[in-house]
Amino acid sequence: MNSDIEEIKSRLNIVDVVGNYIKLEKAGINYRARCPFHNEKSASFFVSPSRQLWHCFGGCNEGGDIFKFVMKIEGVDFVDALKILADKAGVALKKDSEDWQKVKNERQILIDLLERSCKFYTAQLEKSKTGKEAIEYLLKRGMKEETIKDWRLGYAPDTWTGLSDYLIGQGFKREDIVSAGLGIKKDLQKFFDRFRSRIMFPICDLNSQVSGFTGRIFNSDDEAKYLNTPNTLLYDKSRALYGMDKAKMEVRQKDFCVLVEGNVDCIMSHQTGIKNCIAVSGTALTPLHLGIIKRYSSNLVLAFDMDLAGNNATKKGIDLAMKNGFNVKVISMMVEKDPADIILLEGEEKWRDLVNLAKPINEFYFELAFKNRNPELFEDKKKIISDLLPILKKIDNNIEQSYWIENMSHRLKIKDEDIRTELKKVKIEENNISGKEVVNIPDKKTRREMLEEDILSLTLLEPLKASELTEEMIEVFSPEAKDIFLKIKNKEDLGVSDYSSYILIRSELMKGVEDLLVNEEWNKCLTELQNLIKKQERDRLTQEIKSKEKDGAFADVKELLLKFNKLIKNNEENKKEVNQKSETKKAVEEDSEKENSEEGSSKEGQEEEKESN
Ligand SMILES: [Zn+2]
Repeated sequence: MNSDIEEIKSRLNIVDVVGNYIKLEKAGINYRARCPFHNEKSASFFVSPSRQLWHCFGGCNEGGDIFKFVMKIEGVDFVDALKILADKAGVALKKDSEDWQKVKNERQILIDLLERSCKFYTAQLEKSKTGKEAIEYLLKRGMKEETIKDWRLGYAPDTWTGLSDYLIGQGFKREDIVSAGLGIKKDLQKFFDRFRSRIMFPICDLNSQVSGFTGRIFNSDDEAKYLNTPNTLLYDKSRALYGMDKAKMEVRQKDFCVLVEGNVDCIMSHQTGIKNCIAVSGTALTPLHLGIIKRYSSNLVLAFDMDLAGNNATKKGIDLAMKNGFNVKVISMMVEKDPADIILLEGEEKWRDLVNLAKPINEFYFELAFKNRNPELFEDKKKIISDLLPILKKIDNNIEQSYWIENMSHRLKIKDEDIRTELKKVKIEENNISGKEVVNIPDKKTRREMLEEDILSLTLLEPLKASELTEEMIEVFSPEAKDIFLKIKNKEDLGVSDYSSYILIRSELMKGVEDLLVNEEWNKCLTELQNLIKKQERDRLTQEIKSKEKDGAFADVKELLLKFNKLIKNNEENKKEVNQKSETKKAVEEDSEKENSEEGSSKEGQEEEKESN
């Protein structure tokens, strides 16, 4: 018997579903378009009819099936996407069907798990020794004890499995802890807490249910200061607004929303009585954020660290907000301080004043452009003009535009016709497709990640290659790559996670590449991946040896050198093994190519030597 989900999928074609929202163009066996979820000029959004999947290879690097697409583009959760698509497909949903039950149960389990984790963290803050140090730290930053309680701040202990041990004792499964974003599973044996030795800020949905966490380091600087829950069934950073559950009524009443960057800024602002304040955590402003804020008010007051020169994420966020009909004002924060510092060092009154004196965005841009510049000097004049022309260009209202042109003409002593002439020449980057695109900061991929993706995509084209990898070799893969690899090898379904859909479409696209020698390409990628990993390990050891030498810890140095030499030796042996393996296979396929390939690999070997010197 088909489930609702399968029934809907079998009746709808992804090309039609996606094509309803954006214009798709045929590209070989696939379709492509400009991505609706981020700003781009080239079309890096692909849809594969044969796989019934979509993926964006540009900034957002997301993908999935029709459900995921509708969730994202409509800004709805899974249950609503299911309703929308069932309607389209003419499928009557069985409310008590397994799918509903499954989603509901999974949701309920995660809600429960996060709530208990939150209680665990708050208890750790109050009772443990380091937890008390964390409280001291927060009090020193000006936070009151009742504020700490109100916001349910907690502490993740400095142990590998403190939280998971507790949760498992409460009857939760490891998989649930991973699904909730609180545990990391490295392989079958290794499993540990995502958050360790951090002050924990629960992130709540609009109903004050905990949906995720931000963890903040407070006693050392050597690690990432902030760590966020990854996207889960309950937490999606592109729509999470820190403090919105506490701020929403106040935002509606005062009819404006103060937006700050950090969780601590947000909490401190509430403490001063400015309670219509929220923070975006760990991401740039997205249309989904704006959609939520708009339910309560269309007036935004930003307290962001801003500069005019860079075309940074903040500026894009402002453009996006204005395009979505928000009135935007900006708080000038003098000397690059964040709100929490201002409140601590200059007092609550100061913060309240700054909020009340927020300036309309264009006034702020003008002030910024003239700051520290002399409008009498030709060089400075030029800089001011080049900063402000794109701003002027974006002003839709002619009267307002004229006002600012005259203002500029007067202050710079330049004729306003000249400014208008120059203004005509300015081109601003047009944002594509309605107001729905997401402003995203793309994560740069590492060489290693790209190699793994290559190997997986190629293995899909030539599944026999999967059997050539020994267990030991698979160990070098990242956990998610390893997981997909094993599924390919065992001929299991890959599912529709972001990563698997990405790999599937990637291999679809490879099919279109002429003269692709899958076998050769595969061998090359694997060798490079292994070399890269060895090199990283060698670099790490070299660093360690250097620092131990500096400390005069010569016993350690000796030990590290042994490790180092062993690594190099292993490296050589492994390489031989790979070459032998690929050679045997090739020899069977085509005898004549053999010599060439041997030459190739020994050349690589030499380069390897050079690098290590
Ligand atoms: Zn995209």
